[in-house]
Amino acid sequence: MPIPAPERPMRVLAAEDNPVVQSMLCNMLTKWGYDALTARDGNEAWRLLQAEDAPRMAILDWMMPGMDGVEVCRRVRSAGREPYQYILLLTARTESQDLIDGMDAGADDYLTKPFNAHELRVRLRAGRRILDLQEELVLAREALREQATHDGMTGLLNRTAVLEALHNEADRANREGSPLSLLIADFDHFKAVNDTHGHLAGDAVLREGARRMKSVVRRYDALGRYGGEEFLVVLPGCDSTAAQAQAGRLREAIAAEPFSIDGGSLRVTCSVGVSSRANPAITQVNDLIREADLALYAAKRRGRNRVEACAPQSLDLAESEAILI
Ligand code: GH3
Ligand code: MG
Ligand code: MG
Ligand code: MG
Repeated sequence: MPIPAPERPMRVLAAEDNPVVQSMLCNMLTKWGYDALTARDGNEAWRLLQAEDAPRMAILDWMMPGMDGVEVCRRVRSAGREPYQYILLLTARTESQDLIDGMDAGADDYLTKPFNAHELRVRLRAGRRILDLQEELVLAREALREQATHDGMTGLLNRTAVLEALHNEADRANREGSPLSLLIADFDHFKAVNDTHGHLAGDAVLREGARRMKSVVRRYDALGRYGGEEFLVVLPGCDSTAAQAQAGRLREAIAAEPFSIDGGSLRVTCSVGVSSRANPAITQVNDLIREADLALYAAKRRGRNRVEACAPQSLDLAESEAILI
């Protein structure tokens, strides 16, 4: 059985202005297997809790110079950062109104001084369980988000997500008067790939094709699977010339090297249609899609494995069709 990697001790902040209590807290935390960090006042505690690699657990004394524990707590909660930070308030106050105030400020737990070491230990353990559960929830949420926005087979954005990116970029281009282009790439004679090599081989080609396309698009361009063997690339800030160059790189990425499938190698190509707006004052997303589609069909008609662009400024579809035919 593999030996599990030793877990990194959890870092816990002990913010306490009384040096005796602080060193006691430190000793206890270390003995219980935590990595103890210390702060002598509220300002220092707040600074440490905001840091890049801030501890996820904190024991905050209520009464401290500078900023009290309740205020630190309030700030941590209003910052609302992730991952969640678990806060245990420590105080000599015992009135129930104090408890309410502390919990209201966002503390997760509360211990009155002088406290029992065992009690602190089990309360920290309970806090840790909450943090573990929260981490699982965040991971589950991330996985769901990934599932909802990505195509399971290729790992690219799915149709909904890439169209949403296109709408967002069109809005932005309209606001800023910046250029916007769209590419539609479609694999050539893909039915023949399936018919000759089977659907599993076809799937493998699509996955590898997606990986190649991804390797040539810029990080801020949205690349997604539009349907079957058709892919969209949204190119914010790109005019027609730049977009055609990008489409050329995409085509080249697919055609340059044969695909290794089932121990053999297979030549695959794609055709790309380009539509652009130099200054998309009234860009209609549907016009961009329609024009890229028309350009794609022109590329197919003109022999495949090539790029065709729709006339950049043409808004009239009848006219753009005429240009392409
Ligand atoms: P063209 O050059 O004109 O685009 O020819 P084509 O054969 O690629 O065009 P067509 O649209 O007729 O066929 C697309 C094919 O892509 C048909 C379909 O079986 C295949 N396809 C679509 N999605 C998938 C998929 O997820 N996996 C596999 N293996 N094939 C797919
Ligand atoms: Mg104090
Ligand atoms: Mg197709
Ligand atoms: Mg095709």
